Amino acid sequence: MTDSTKPLYSLAGKRVWISGHGGMVGSALMRRLQSEDCKILKATSKELDLRRQAEVEAWMEAEKPETVFLAAATVGGIMANDTRPAEFIYDNLAIEANVIHGAWRSGVEKLLFLSAACVYPREAPQPTPEDCLLTGPLEPTNEMSAIAKIAGIKLCQAYRRQYGCDFISCQPLNMYGPGDNFDPEDSHVVGALLMKAHAAKTEGRPAMTVWGSGKPVREFLYVDDAADALVFQMRHYSDDRALNIGPGAVISIRELAEAVARVVGFEGELVFDAAKPDGMPSKTLDAARFAALGWKATTSLEDGLATFEIFAHCAHVLAPHVVG
Ligand code: GDP
Repeated sequence: MTDSTKPLYSLAGKRVWISGHGGMVGSALMRRLQSEDCKILKATSKELDLRRQAEVEAWMEAEKPETVFLAAATVGGIMANDTRPAEFIYDNLAIEANVIHGAWRSGVEKLLFLSAACVYPREAPQPTPEDCLLTGPLEPTNEMSAIAKIAGIKLCQAYRRQYGCDFISCQPLNMYGPGDNFDPEDSHVVGALLMKAHAAKTEGRPAMTVWGSGKPVREFLYVDDAADALVFQMRHYSDDRALNIGPGAVISIRELAEAVARVVGFEGELVFDAAKPDGMPSKTLDAARFAALGWKATTSLEDGLATFEIFAHCAHVLAPHVVG
């Protein structure tokens, strides 16, 4: 989208660190920032283990980032969250604490922390406004991720309050698109369903499995739109409230599976596996505050799925055996 209103913060000439540049959002940020007049800094996880405080502080002292997109995180879908809770809480707490503290120590001008929609209570009103944070119990299948993400938001607020740092946070929606994971156990629903539909079609199977009841509702944002929103927020927002990013496309898992089947050309039956968890009954965000700043998404769910399908097709051709 065109970003015509006068920004509060300029990226021009800045040393911009995209932490997590190899992940789905990080790669989209890399694409988005190509057209900006800034110097992009990045480090692979081999070069810099973000869970090690001394390494992070030394790297930041040496590289002197002025602007930080804190997109690095241990991420995964509902099963990964449920079965690897220690990694989800430890890795994410350590990464956030090290990068945010390091940013204060090394004098970073502005930092944007990516939280997630799972921070809101399981039974929060839908769409959920920002002030529902910490008003009720969390969804058990992603509680560890949520606790870590809430801690990230609180770190930004604490460093803003005590030290005056311009550190901000946001909750992006469920994102999908190039760079996503297609692993059958670890992936999020869109990548998983695309791969399953490909496998079922190629192997001429009469049915494909969809986890849970199909009733949960999710709101999806194409990852390149999300990256544009993050750059927009970096420029136009400076406040301690963690902002909901959106609006995106609201759809039930059943409708999503039907849309995926159409895009892939799979004409068999959808079988719902009640033994798998549904997770949050509904996860949709009230993004009125963000929309009021003047941003909106440009990619419809149909267009996003069609683009993402090309990547799923390639992944399936290269590694058909990974589909369970
Ligand atoms: P969530 O938004 O944190 O719950 O994460 P996911 O993207 O992993 O799951 C979203 C919803 O899609 C849940 O209700 C899942 O049960 C459902 N779902 C249906 N089929 C699949 C699948 O093959 N993989 C995943 N990850 N979720 C699926």
